[in-house]
Amino acid sequence: MEKQAELYSGKAKSVYNTDDEKYLILHFRNDTSAFDGKKREKLDRKGMVNNKFNAFIMEKLQAAGVPVHFERLLNDNESLVKRLDMLPLECVVRNIAAGSICRRYGIEEGKDLTPATFEFFLKDDALGDPMVNEYHIRSFHWASDEQVSKMKELTFKVNEVLKKLFLDGGMLLVDYKLEFGMSGDELILGDEFSPDGCRIWDAETREKFDKDRFRQGLGNVVESYERVGERLGISFASIG
Ligand code: ADP
Ligand code: UDP
Repeated sequence: MEKQAELYSGKAKSVYNTDDEKYLILHFRNDTSAFDGKKREKLDRKGMVNNKFNAFIMEKLQAAGVPVHFERLLNDNESLVKRLDMLPLECVVRNIAAGSICRRYGIEEGKDLTPATFEFFLKDDALGDPMVNEYHIRSFHWASDEQVSKMKELTFKVNEVLKKLFLDGGMLLVDYKLEFGMSGDELILGDEFSPDGCRIWDAETREKFDKDRFRQGLGNVVESYERVGERLGISFASIG
């Protein structure tokens, strides 16, 4: 697969065309950002760690019957994926309260959310990714009713698979964000699943292992991502 011109460069990844129009290359960079891009840093090894973390999780999800865009790892920082028409929405499931839901509703961090809650956010940096409801999605035609119900179904299915996977490694999956896109008529999980887009706590001590370490200046950001990976059995050895 030949890498061609850059199609898009986001806050953490760059997307490249390939010589096959059905596929793209995702390049995971070391760039890290938070607070709508206001806090930015380059973290050594982060791109490589997230690329391999994402590959491992996407393969687990595919094996559990979730359609995913991930095809294969190409090298330490790049993966081959199916080209999708991304829907402009972020799907967030929360098992435990943390982050914006605490600020929004005055809830204490760490409160158990049973049943897990679901939120849609509009993917729009200039607007600060506002939370939207299903009526907004319908009226503004951001997604069809069928796409909305499929995104919810798949996002909750991911929760069942990953809650168990992390718990088996002694960790709690607090919350996570997913993005979906269309390949023809099929709705497919795109983007990435890594500690940049979810919250993972130690099940005993509730120590934070995810991007909150960066947001809150707790240090050892990439080391914590690797620790999570090692507990799941992910290899971060160089593949070139
Ligand atoms: P952002 O755009 O939020 O700054 P990234 O730096 O992670 O995020 O950039 C990756 C971009 O690639 C995102 O906008 C994401 O929606 C898009 N993307 C992810 N997977 C695919 C795919 N399979 N096909 C097309 N676009 C994708
Ligand atoms: N998230 C993300 N990208 C975003 C917004 C949120 O990956 O643009 C993830 C975030 O890492 C967390 C979950 O979605 O795991 C819920 O985020 P929240 O709404 O609490 O926002 P935050 O306070 O993290 O900005």
